[in-house]
Amino acid sequence: MRTDATRRSGPGAPLGLYIHIPFCRRKCAYCDFYSLERADDAALMDRYLAALLRQMEETSVTIADPVDSVYIGGGTPTVFGADRLAALLELISRRFELTKRAEITCEANPESSDKKLLKRLRKAGVNRVSFGVQSACDAELKALGRLHDFEGAKAAVEAARSAGIENISIDLMYGIEGQTQESWARTLGAAAALEPRHISAYGLKVEPGTPLARRAGVGEVFLPSDDAQADMYETACRVLALAGYRHYEISNWAKPGYESRHNLRYWRLEPYCGFGAAAHSDCFGVRSAAPRDIMRYIEAVESGGEVFEDYDRIPDSERAFEYVMLGLRTSDGISKRRLTNVYRLDPDSAKDELEALAQAGLVEDLPDSVRLTEKGFLLSNTLILRIFDSLKPIRSPFAKEQR
Ligand code: SF4
Repeated sequence: MRTDATRRSGPGAPLGLYIHIPFCRRKCAYCDFYSLERADDAALMDRYLAALLRQMEETSVTIADPVDSVYIGGGTPTVFGADRLAALLELISRRFELTKRAEITCEANPESSDKKLLKRLRKAGVNRVSFGVQSACDAELKALGRLHDFEGAKAAVEAARSAGIENISIDLMYGIEGQTQESWARTLGAAAALEPRHISAYGLKVEPGTPLARRAGVGEVFLPSDDAQADMYETACRVLALAGYRHYEISNWAKPGYESRHNLRYWRLEPYCGFGAAAHSDCFGVRSAAPRDIMRYIEAVESGGEVFEDYDRIPDSERAFEYVMLGLRTSDGISKRRLTNVYRLDPDSAKDELEALAQAGLVEDLPDSVRLTEKGFLLSNTLILRIFDSLKPIRSPFAKEQR
């Protein structure tokens, strides 16, 4: 079977592995991730597990690089069950070269995460759990279609700690129907009081095709305005800074040293291999995606056929734009050396634009890097385009002779 990941990688660069578990107990109203309401279908889960194990086993044969992050996401990985998750991790530790300090994250929903399951995951190697908490207000959780209440979220965090998993991340959401500035501030305070090592806060987006989009389309649902969402974002910046979290990416905050290594990989354009339906890979210069259809995925693996449906060799100009776009979302910003040496863009060509943005307090133009300020994060989409458009290619000294 040929998969994207079977291309031999260059030596040295650590790799990340992503495994997609497309099962949920119930679909949330806003969600457009690939997941199925088939959490009770043990036969389908077993068949999916077998396909995942086979895809990983076959891929591992030609991966020479060490792996320093594993991320099991979904869907709701915790409804897949501890035994199946442990089987995946067992194969990874046997077939891939995991670094000693590899970050191994499992996404979890509070209602399907008890101490027994979390203990088993800990034993299987999971050292980081990311809980989908979303809100501390039960009415907002209901509006989102979530199955847990905030007491349940607190209990799940407690269960993770008593299972020996200290590195806990919490996902929050703002812009929810019925949410106010006060209830959002309460959610932030309650989340910080749980003392997770990492907090993500995402603005709710109405994704086409979701139940939320249908209701919004017929005027049945009133969401906080863009201005209200911007205020909520600023509240998050303020409250989480006061609670000791470092704002290291537009939507992510961490206690020092607890930034998500796996997610940093995406923002830094570092390589990763994806496994499972709808999983993406970006390694060895090629980006690829498996089908958003569990049966097409399973049948492709079982028949020894092609797993990835979309292949894209990303041109350098597109990589350069991605580097600027994703890099400027992080507090480290973009490296001038990388712009010059890898993407052949001249940081000096953007000098005037950067100076104007720095004077407006939106950008910091440092000797080695360029980054957005917290005020700049709020206008990131516009600023990223302005900065990228002002960067000009480095002129080759041989340009004349080549012509
Ligand atoms: S639990 Fe997560 S993946 Fe499942 S439907 Fe809700 S938001 Fe989507």
